[in-house]
Amino acid sequence: MYNALTGRFTFPCPSRGQTRVTLSAFRQLERLPGASHPAVFQVLFACGCGEEHEGLVTHDDLDWAPLGLQGGVFYNVMTAQLDRLELELSDLAARKIGAGEWPWSFFCYPEERPRPVYPSAFCVLAPGDRSLGVAVRCPACHKVSVNLVTHEHVDLPWHHDREVGVVPHVFADDAAGLVEEFRAELYSSGFDARRLSLE
Ligand SMILES: [Zn+2]
Ligand SMILES: [Zn+2]
Repeated sequence: MYNALTGRFTFPCPSRGQTRVTLSAFRQLERLPGASHPAVFQVLFACGCGEEHEGLVTHDDLDWAPLGLQGGVFYNVMTAQLDRLELELSDLAARKIGAGEWPWSFFCYPEERPRPVYPSAFCVLAPGDRSLGVAVRCPACHKVSVNLVTHEHVDLPWHHDREVGVVPHVFADDAAGLVEEFRAELYSSGFDARRLSLE
């Protein structure tokens, strides 16, 4: 599903059979009720074929696989080379997190502070002129904030934009209301966001 070496998720595509996309090609994420071991997310993603499709991704693939922390992969004797690389990735990830360096972060508007986050907290993503709008549900206060970031900020763990755009608006709690508000704000002057430091 996720390949840590290419940084891409694999999904079925009705016209190409299979497609590989980065996290920043996701458009909507929603945790499915019920399944919890592992939790499963339904995602809408922008495919290379020009259409948007739905796909399923597990919580592990979403949050841990990009860090090389995929359970069970390390001990596959058939792919010794890949396993060594994944093991190094996971060692590095564990050391960095242990040292308080977080793979992803965002600026929480209601709390007026940067917060560490994982991709499963992303709800809606939309490409803008030069940046990507990301609606994030804060793991601490559970409110939704929208940040304007680079694609790298989303796709590369530990790549943090020094500054992000923050839309001065507290967004709706329910998924449908959020998507509607997000689209309305995205194409309004509200997206002349304040630039705030993540450091
Ligand atoms: Zn497609
Ligand atoms: Zn918060």
